[in-house]
Amino acid sequence: MSEQSLDPASVAESELATARGVFRTVAFRDPVDRNEHLALVAGEPAGADDVLTRVHSECVTGDVFSALRCECGDQLSSALDTIADHGTGVLVYLRGHEGRGIGLVDKARTIALQDNSGLDTVDSATALGLPVDARDYGPAARVLRYLAVRSVRLLTNNPDKARALTARGVPVRSRVPLLAPARPENLGYLTAKRDRLGHDLPHLREPRV
Ligand SMILES: [Zn+2]
Repeated sequence: MSEQSLDPASVAESELATARGVFRTVAFRDPVDRNEHLALVAGEPAGADDVLTRVHSECVTGDVFSALRCECGDQLSSALDTIADHGTGVLVYLRGHEGRGIGLVDKARTIALQDNSGLDTVDSATALGLPVDARDYGPAARVLRYLAVRSVRLLTNNPDKARALTARGVPVRSRVPLLAPARPENLGYLTAKRDRLGHDLPHLREPRV
């Protein structure tokens, strides 16, 4: 598949000192979805194979406010720890991916419906006429190519994400699990992700339905 490249005029780099050490940041405006995204880079992944990589979908409630009903915040933190410990890797933070791409307002609608009706994360979206997963990983593929990453070890439990990235031209050589602790607040969500969306979550104790 021929893919668009990032326009250098829409990319800016700097260093970012964090509690986990200093990362190189690559902020970019994607030529297709027009959102501004961010990659955090540790070490020097250019020209390397099997680069430890997390492609993280924005979740304001989980990432910023530590919501317990999803595991996004735990996964973001754990992925950054893993990459920082390893010394080389990339975290791509994709904006516009709220609620698997439906946006924050509709995500809040699905959450209210889940709480009021008992529907799970999949059925609450379809009941509202919303797509179950509208995310596009093109921006992640474009920034990984910009960084000259040759292939990745992808931090995810989601085989679909690995396939989608591969389809976008980024070879995913293996998947590295990112198992957030199951809690009473997120058990329903994790179970639905396992049973309805095919995520690999072997640590859940609830039997498969
Ligand atoms: Zn979340």
